[in-house]
Amino acid sequence: MIIVPEHEIAELISAADCFAAVEQVFASMANKSAYNFPVIREAIGHADALYGFKSGFDRESLALGLKSGGFWPRNTAKGLTNHQSTIFLFDADTGRCRAVVGGNLLTALRTAAASAVSIKHLARSDAKVLGMIGAGHQSTFQLRAALDQRPFERVVGWSRHPEELHRLSAVAVERDIPFEAVDLDRLGTEADVIITITSSFAPILKAAQVRPGTHLACMGTDTKGKQETEAELVAAATLFTDEIAQSVTIGEAQHAVGQGLINADSIIEIGAVITGKHPGRSSAEEITLFDGTGVGLQDLAVASAAVDLAIAKGVAIEINV
Ligand code: NAD
Repeated sequence: MIIVPEHEIAELISAADCFAAVEQVFASMANKSAYNFPVIREAIGHADALYGFKSGFDRESLALGLKSGGFWPRNTAKGLTNHQSTIFLFDADTGRCRAVVGGNLLTALRTAAASAVSIKHLARSDAKVLGMIGAGHQSTFQLRAALDQRPFERVVGWSRHPEELHRLSAVAVERDIPFEAVDLDRLGTEADVIITITSSFAPILKAAQVRPGTHLACMGTDTKGKQETEAELVAAATLFTDEIAQSVTIGEAQHAVGQGLINADSIIEIGAVITGKHPGRSSAEEITLFDGTGVGLQDLAVASAAVDLAIAKGVAIEINV
């Protein structure tokens, strides 16, 4: 069995490696050769923790396994990250445990890769201004991955907690691109691509604030009740997602579906665009929205890539069990 500890991940795997792994597994999902198993998420009644599993199998890459972990709200006081996860991979031929991989950084990288895949396939090719809503832990990963997809000339950002915006401006400095903090009206008017990555439970961005031709990657909503955009905006957009079952239950689409504004049949899995089964954006005026809910197969894809790289670079820890 191979162990790839959390502290090895940063040196081992790049955003580009994660992008390739996530794009491949979304295509496998569209080809019906990869599928996610039902998600388990439980309040365990201890330490206010939410704990669960996301799992699946990709018959193309033979990635089989699960990500286990969750949210421990009091970890910060202990000097630890609140979100904790570990990915377990199993040999699809024998069922033996193949690898245990630290999942914290990989979660941020695979989530950023998902929105970047949506930008590659759905944003207008002439997109120049990137809008960021939210400036928490995930936001810097989102921003870096998005900047790799188009020759953006400017970044505009908004946060309910403006004191966090230094995170986004630091990435802009690193990438030598201008950054400006703006209100939501300006953000919607100026941005060609908008990423939302917050923990909001009420709509932040309204339909009237978004102009034709915008691509939105809504990445924060991954639980029942969360919401980042007005349901009318979701209904006005051509809607894409990683997995329809999650989009309508725990994703951004849950509210538009719940209010009867759209139904699940109108939602397109991004894998269909990657594999050419769906044309994607149909005009420069269309608003496209990617509802990135986060699936277990993304975790298995990036963990498998990390294991392969650890073996190739000679840093995999092997133990006999
Ligand atoms: P974080 O706690 O570091 O940051 C949260 C961000 O949300 C901050 O910018 C904060 O200001 C903002 N925010 C919180 N409440 C808000 C509100 N009511 N209105 C507007 N903004 C608000 O969290 P993070 O690690 O950056 O994660 C952000 C979100 O992304 C979380 O909700 C997390 O569950 C979600 N997430 C999704 C996926 C996925 O695959 N889709 C993966 C990882 C994390």
